[in-house]
Amino acid sequence: MQCSLCKGKGVWPLFRREDIPHYNLELIFDRDKALNVRRGIVDFYYCPDCAFAFNAAFDQGLADYQVSYESSRGHSAKFLEYMQHVVQDFQDIFGIEGKTVLEIGCGDGQFLEKMRSQYNFNGYGFDPSAKTDSTTDLKLIKGYFQPASFRPEVDIVVLRHVLEHQQNASSFLAAILGKGSYWNKVRLYVEVPCWEWIVKHHSFNAFSYEHCSYYSMDSLDQVLEMEGFQSKVIKYTFEGEYLQYFGERGRVKATGPDDRFQRKDTLASQTRIFYKNTIKALDQINETIHAHGQDAVIWGAAGKGTTLINILGLSYKTMEFVVDINPARHKTYIPGGGQQVVAPIQLKQIKPKYIYITNSGYLEEIKTIVNDLGLKVEFILLDRMMEGCCR
Ligand SMILES: [Zn+2]
Repeated sequence: MQCSLCKGKGVWPLFRREDIPHYNLELIFDRDKALNVRRGIVDFYYCPDCAFAFNAAFDQGLADYQVSYESSRGHSAKFLEYMQHVVQDFQDIFGIEGKTVLEIGCGDGQFLEKMRSQYNFNGYGFDPSAKTDSTTDLKLIKGYFQPASFRPEVDIVVLRHVLEHQQNASSFLAAILGKGSYWNKVRLYVEVPCWEWIVKHHSFNAFSYEHCSYYSMDSLDQVLEMEGFQSKVIKYTFEGEYLQYFGERGRVKATGPDDRFQRKDTLASQTRIFYKNTIKALDQINETIHAHGQDAVIWGAAGKGTTLINILGLSYKTMEFVVDINPARHKTYIPGGGQQVVAPIQLKQIKPKYIYITNSGYLEEIKTIVNDLGLKVEFILLDRMMEGCCR
């Protein structure tokens, strides 16, 4: 086994599970379909040489972003505030007025729309799930970006939450930005989940099938350098959960002390601790969930709740319901586990004794809802259990 980024031979195994659904957030309204979703192997390795984590069993050929997907975070005030910060950074570092901006993997075009509400620029967005009914003059195109048939001269390319889905970032970047003279001067913005944050927050959620590549600050800088980019600004953002990279091609890198090696050693030892503790914590959570069986429900069908169900291999026969406040998820079934997603009000019939919460930041909000329903339950904070094991 060698590192998919630097080809280093010193990689070590982090986490392996078979039968993990390809899509955590797919909306499925039928239990049989939810049980029979397409699954893949999650087999993560860590490379201490370049500080990069990757799923060695990921099959890029099977990736398909045209499934029915609910990943919008446009309702979260915290997230909208964050988007505004990104727009401000863009303006400060690159300047937006009059530029031509191309976003590859633009989703529903939310980011371009946000910039467009404040600045004048030519905006193009490509995504298989793009909404083409933009109310502005942005050009959102439903489908994958095809460089050969794209003519406009681009100043800035945006890749927000794209590279973590790519098994081989170098060949992906070479395919989209490799030819044509104007790509030689292009500026690049990249945003990805941050490995340092995952390790620090013992986020087992990282081991889903959707993301096959996790970058640290150093490995992100390295992979983009390999494609001829030099970073202007690279920083942690969104309370450390993401990495932001602003760079350009052909820029001469400023020389300075290189503290990368020391950072890599520290991150490698933190990653080892994360690995050992995650396995221990998941075993403990598994034991508790099986002991509580149908007396328990999980709160939160998005992200962490679904990932937990799948990495534990938890069937609806052991625990049947997952609660969620998002009406779009009600009456759906968890991909893989087959649990039914219900509205909080249905807890009056289900009468659980225990509610598992994956993010204790929402405890007070959940408590209020449950108290208003007149229910007496014990709350179990899974993230605190993870922390307890990781101390
Ligand atoms: Zn490596």
